[in-house]
Amino acid sequence: MYVLVINAGSSSLKYQLLDMSNENAIAKGLCERIGIDGRLVHETDKGKHTADKAMPDHGAAMAIVIDTLLDAEHGVLKSKDEIKAVGHRVVHGGETFTASVLITDEVEKGIEAVSDLAPLHNPPNLTGIRACKQHMPNVPQVAVFDTAFHQTMPEKAFLYAIDYELYKKHKIRRYGFHGTSHKYVSNLAPEMLKRDAKDMKIVTCHLGNGVSLCAVDGGVSVDTSMGMTPLEGLAMGTRCGDIDPAVVQYIMEKECISAQQAGDMLNKKSGVLGISGVSSDFRDLCTAANSGNERAAAAMEVFAYRVAGYIGRYAACMNGLDAIVFTAGIGENDCGIREKVCAYLTWFGVEIDPELNGKRGQALDISKPNAKVRVLVIPTNEELVIARDTKAILKF
Ligand code: AMP
Repeated sequence: MYVLVINAGSSSLKYQLLDMSNENAIAKGLCERIGIDGRLVHETDKGKHTADKAMPDHGAAMAIVIDTLLDAEHGVLKSKDEIKAVGHRVVHGGETFTASVLITDEVEKGIEAVSDLAPLHNPPNLTGIRACKQHMPNVPQVAVFDTAFHQTMPEKAFLYAIDYELYKKHKIRRYGFHGTSHKYVSNLAPEMLKRDAKDMKIVTCHLGNGVSLCAVDGGVSVDTSMGMTPLEGLAMGTRCGDIDPAVVQYIMEKECISAQQAGDMLNKKSGVLGISGVSSDFRDLCTAANSGNERAAAAMEVFAYRVAGYIGRYAACMNGLDAIVFTAGIGENDCGIREKVCAYLTWFGVEIDPELNGKRGQALDISKPNAKVRVLVIPTNEELVIARDTKAILKF
């Protein structure tokens, strides 16, 4: 029983084929430079296959994905009919979509209607949906939204302190993102600790290129650090996170730049890249800091300080804290950042074991035996959440 998971970006299309009888990914890959020239990277047990192939649009890329999955040498399927369903990552569901849904014409219109809130993401997501419909018209498709997990946030967490009419008229409010990742790790944490999710207060820290934290109380999201867009919250690879909104106007005036240019600056040239001037990648930052680059070291300090600050805030908002989960590229791999963050939190009862913190690649409780707050590292699996939701909706 195979589910194909699709994550379509403006010039890329990521895919993963999962065997839902054991939840294993049997093939995964990426079509990139769609609309430019086209390049395929495809991975299976047999190894990695890369090829330059013309991809004038997402439809052409999708045809290449299907051909590759069926290919005698690199493929894993005998027939296209073995794909029972397709699950799509859709970034923004607005207030319309509070859970995953079977895609119908009406749902497509609904996704289009909230596209104003994510103009860079929802239109390519829709293009991916349409490309799949074109090549697999009889295969059911499901949309899984990054925002849906956070639709349980109470009004006090999602309202901005601005004119309420702006919320009513334009739906300007906090939505949050990385929902599939926060859902996956917050489900697994109680299981690992042999506790009931209903009785747990957890802060999940998705620390990747994009960074967001989520307060999960009794298994549901009650607050999260990203807002109407993925720019709010923590300092990220290239995004600024929380900033005095007056700074935007000030930069525009001082640098003589447009609103669009200011937006680009805060999205693409800020965060740890902006502070360090070195890189958005923590491996490069670490190397630079170790060789005496003070701005790289400062960027890492800002990053860790903010993560710790948000954990403290969520402990207060939930009036308790049982566990912290680190996930995604930095959260899973960078023991130095985990150590820095946890060093701020000893007062809460956080104490990690340095040896366990040094391990990599597995789900692990890295706390000392008697620590009051458990600290877990859990590799995230967003594709699996999308495939599970797809399977659940189609009831197979
Ligand atoms: P993600 O968005 O989850 O793929 O995370 C990507 C980010 O994770 C990269 O930009 C790096 O900053 C970080 N990362 C990945 N591997 C490592 C590593 N071994 N050590 C430190 N940071 C890492």
